[in-house]
Amino acid sequence: MTTGIRNARNVSRYLFGTGSLSNLPAILNVHRSSASHRVIIFIDHYFQTHTLSDDFNVITPADQIIYVDTTHEPTTSLMNSMRDRVLTESAELPCAIVGIGGGITMDVAKAVSNLLSNGGDAEDYQGWDLVRVPGIFKVALPTISGTGAESTRTCVMTNTASGLKLGMNSDFTVFDQIILDPDLTRTVPRDQYFFTGMDAFIHCMESLNGSYRNAIGDAYSSQTMQLCRDVFFGDDMMSDENRAKLMVASYLGGCAIATSYVGVLHPFSAALSVVLGLHHGVANCITMRAMEEFYPEGYSEFYRMAERQGVSIPEGVCRNLTDDQYERLYSATIIHEKPLTNALGEDFKDILTPWKVRELFLRI
Ligand code: NAD
Ligand code: ZN
Repeated sequence: MTTGIRNARNVSRYLFGTGSLSNLPAILNVHRSSASHRVIIFIDHYFQTHTLSDDFNVITPADQIIYVDTTHEPTTSLMNSMRDRVLTESAELPCAIVGIGGGITMDVAKAVSNLLSNGGDAEDYQGWDLVRVPGIFKVALPTISGTGAESTRTCVMTNTASGLKLGMNSDFTVFDQIILDPDLTRTVPRDQYFFTGMDAFIHCMESLNGSYRNAIGDAYSSQTMQLCRDVFFGDDMMSDENRAKLMVASYLGGCAIATSYVGVLHPFSAALSVVLGLHHGVANCITMRAMEEFYPEGYSEFYRMAERQGVSIPEGVCRNLTDDQYERLYSATIIHEKPLTNALGEDFKDILTPWKVRELFLRI
C-alpha cells in the first residue's frame, strides 16, 4: 500500500557535531532585524539548575528564556499558556523560537511557533494540514535522542477537554534549523536514555513491518535500526561515540516516520499515556512485553539490548485496574486506525477485540 505521503518535507538545515551549539548565536543573529530582535528560547527545566554548556551564550536583553516543566507530557492548554507567556512579555512578535530539550520541549517550540503566526488555539490545529501559514523561524537543539521530534512534521499534545492525543501534522511544523550537538546528551539518566532511544528503534521496527511502505522511508528505517543496534549492543550505550550515533539515529528515525506509519505498539503505548499518564518512552518499552506475537524479532532484540545495558523495564502496570480503565485503554488504543491498519490490515478490529486488547494489557 502507498502511504499517501508523496511530497515529503525535511528540516531545511542541520548542523551536526560536538560543540556545534556554539553556532547558535550566529544563526539567530541572521534572523534578528529592525522589525524584530527578539528570540524566545524554550529550555527543559532540568537546565534551570544544571549547566547546558559553557558555550551557551546567546541571550540579548530582548530575549526571553522560558523553562518547560517536563514532568507531564504536553496538553493543548500548556501550548496555549506558553504562547500567552510570549505575548504577555512583549507586543513584538519574536524573530525566532528555539527549543532546547527532549520531545516535549521541541514540541512546545513547534506549537508556539505555529500558534503565533496562525492565531487561534492549539486544539484548532490537531489533525492533518490544518496550519495555514508558516510558523515563526524555529530552531531545535535536542538534549536527548530517540523521538525524532527534531525532524518530524508533528508536535504531539493531548487535548485537555477530549483526551485526544494528536499533533499538529503539517509541513509548517518542521523545524527550519536543527543543531545536533552530542555533548548535550551527556547528562541524561541511563534509564531515560534507553527508554527515549528505543523510540527510534520501535518507530522503525513498526514501519518496516507495516504495509504502507515507500523506498525512502524504508532506507531511513533500516539505517536507524542498525545505528540503534550498534549503540545498544555496544559496551556503553552512552560513550561519546554512541551518543553521537544515537543522535543520528533519532534524526533519521524522524525522517522515516515522516513518510510512513507506526504499527501496533504505538497505539497501545499512547493509550497508556492517555489513561495512566505514563511518558512516551517508558510506555513504549512497557508495551513491548505484549508485542512478541506481532514483532517476534524486534521483541527478542529489544530484551537483549535492555539486558546488555542493565536497564530494567517496569512490569505489571496494568494489573488490578478497574473495568472502566480497561475500557478506556481499549478506546484509546483502537482510535489509532491508520497505524493499526498499517500493521494488521483494514479488519484490525476483528483481531484486536476488546477482550484481546485487555488480555494484551494484562500481559504488560
Ligand atoms: P522528554 O522531553 O519527555 O524528557 C524526558 C526527561 O529527560 C525529562 O525529565 C527531561 O528533564 C530529561 N532530560 C532531557 N534532556 C536531558 C539532559 N540532557 N540531561 C538530563 N535530563 C534530560 O523526552 P523525550 O522522551 O525526548 O520526549 C517525549 C515526548 O516527545 C512526548 O511528549 C512524546 O509525545 C513526544 N514525541 C514527539 C514526537 C514528534 O514527532 N514530535 C515523536 C515522538 C514522541
Ligand atoms: Zn514514538
